[in-house]
Order: sequence, then structure tokens, then C-alpha cells
Amino acid sequence: MRKKKSRLEAYSATALLGLCMGILAVYLAHTHIATFVQKQEQSAAVFFKPGSSVADLQRKYDRAVKTKKAVRILLVPGHEPFYGGAEYRNLKEREMALELSAHLAKLLEANRRYDTFTSRNSDGWDSAMLAYFADNWESIGTFAQKQKVETAKHIGTGALVKHDPAMIHNAAPSDVGLRLYGIHKWANENDIDLSIHIHFNDHPRKNATSPGKYTGFTLYIPDPQYSNGKTARAVAERIFARLSQTYSPSDMPKEAPGIVESQDLIAVGSYNTSDAPSILVEYAYIYEAQLQDEATRSLVLQDMALQTYEGLQDFFENRNKHLVQKTR
Ligand SMILES: [Zn+2]
Repeated sequence: MRKKKSRLEAYSATALLGLCMGILAVYLAHTHIATFVQKQEQSAAVFFKPGSSVADLQRKYDRAVKTKKAVRILLVPGHEPFYGGAEYRNLKEREMALELSAHLAKLLEANRRYDTFTSRNSDGWDSAMLAYFADNWESIGTFAQKQKVETAKHIGTGALVKHDPAMIHNAAPSDVGLRLYGIHKWANENDIDLSIHIHFNDHPRKNATSPGKYTGFTLYIPDPQYSNGKTARAVAERIFARLSQTYSPSDMPKEAPGIVESQDLIAVGSYNTSDAPSILVEYAYIYEAQLQDEATRSLVLQDMALQTYEGLQDFFENRNKHLVQKTR
């Protein structure tokens, strides 16, 4: 009997010890996980540092005259000054982008709450941009590579969910790509509040001298997980609403929502490279009828610039008014 009791006691003691160790293990595991999660969150927070919120930008605009700190807008007419971009018959995307950009810059410059910068003009790259590329070429490459590695790391930990299959490919960015990263780096260092990239679309087809099958405009914005994503969407929705009063959104299925989120489009800040909200507008397909006649095209480009400006005004100034048309 006594022997039995002592065995029972021994069992209880073992069970109790087991239970204690179990609790300790669970506690330690939790502490470890908590520290790990905390570390992960900290590193994610540094990488995805919150960019300017909608309210931050609107406050800056409201107080611009008083504080003498205008909203800094960077216009980036798409492609290189003398090559690249879509071409159709005699039309060149890079030239139309420049024309539209000049109209938009003029409208913005007339409003003292904005400071406007343009990455290139009819002579080539803006002189400040050209000097920046020359002086910082190596560090631009390092910057792009570092952001790419960080992005891959955050995908690995689950802090960033990958949507774009093309993201994190091994190819080194071309000089053209590096100049775009350079524009982001310059913008980050020069407190740019908003970047607008101006493009015209094209669709691959057998007979390049005949119009393609799709028409309409599209706005590309950064992934909402990136620092600048949510604010970029808010601005893009206002521009979309204005453009859609006159122009039809793209009928290409992949562009169908009209505002398309992208993780790997360099211009909108792939690998989280643009602190400022960055928006790319494909204003139309280059082969569309409205762009073929010179006089009509000139009016259309002016109007597209005006609608973009009005969209910005809806975001910055007329924000209490309802959206002209909701996209979602
Ligand atoms: Zn383009």
C-alpha cells in the first residue's frame, strides 16, 4: 500500500514537473515569437515608412502660402529624351508626353501653392537631373539593389505579399531603368510630394501601321503595401474622375478597373523606391483617332493636361465636394 502510494506520489511529481516545463516552454516560445514578430515589424516599419498621408498633403497645400512651403510636384514625361516609347506613323510617345507635360507645368506654375519640377524638356534632361545622374550613378545602382534585396527579405518573412509574378527577377536594371530609379532617389532627397509620369500606351500587333485593338486611358499606382501606395490611390481617383468625364477608361481587360496597382513598375516605385506617391498615366493608346490629326491632337493634349490639373485641384482644394464619378 505504502509502496503504491509512493509510486503515485512519484507519478504526480513527474506530471507536475512535466506540466511546469511545458508551461515554461510555451512561455519561452511566446517570448521568442513576440521578439521575432516585434523585430520583423520594426524592420518592416523602417522599410515601409509611412509616406505622406492624404491629410498631410492637403494640409501642406492649405498652409502653403503662409508657410511659404509649396507642394512639390515632379512631372516625368515618359521615356528618354531622344529614344524609346511608342511610335505610330509619325507620332512619338516621348514627344506627346513632353507636350502634355508642358501644358500641365504651365497650369501648376500659375498656382503659387505648387512648386513644379520637370525631369526633361525639349533640349533633353533637365540640367539638375543630368548632373544628378552623373554625380550619383553608382549610388543610384546601390540604392536600387538595396531596395530590391530588402523587398525580397520582406517577401520571405511574409511582411510583404507578392502579387506581381515578374517581381524580383535577377536581371540588372538597364541604364534606362537606373535613370528612373535615379529620378526616385532625387525626388526622395528633394522632398518631392507627388510624382506624375506621363505616357501614351501601345498594344503589340502584327501590322504596326494599323491601329491596335484597345483604346482608353489607365492610371498605374504603387502597391498599397508600399509607403506611398494609399495616398497615390487617393490622388489617382480624383484624376481618374476628371479624365473619365471626357475620355473612356482602357478597354484592355488587364487595365479594366482604370486604376491599376503595380508592385514592379519602376515608374511608380517598384521595390518601394519612391517615398512620394507616384502615379503613371497612360493617357490614350498612341494609335487612337483623336491623336492623329495635328490640330485635334494639340487640343486633346491641352485638355488632358487640364483634366489632370482639375483632378489635382479636386484632391487638394475642392476635396469636400463629391467625386465626379466613383471608380469603386
Ligand atoms: Zn511609355
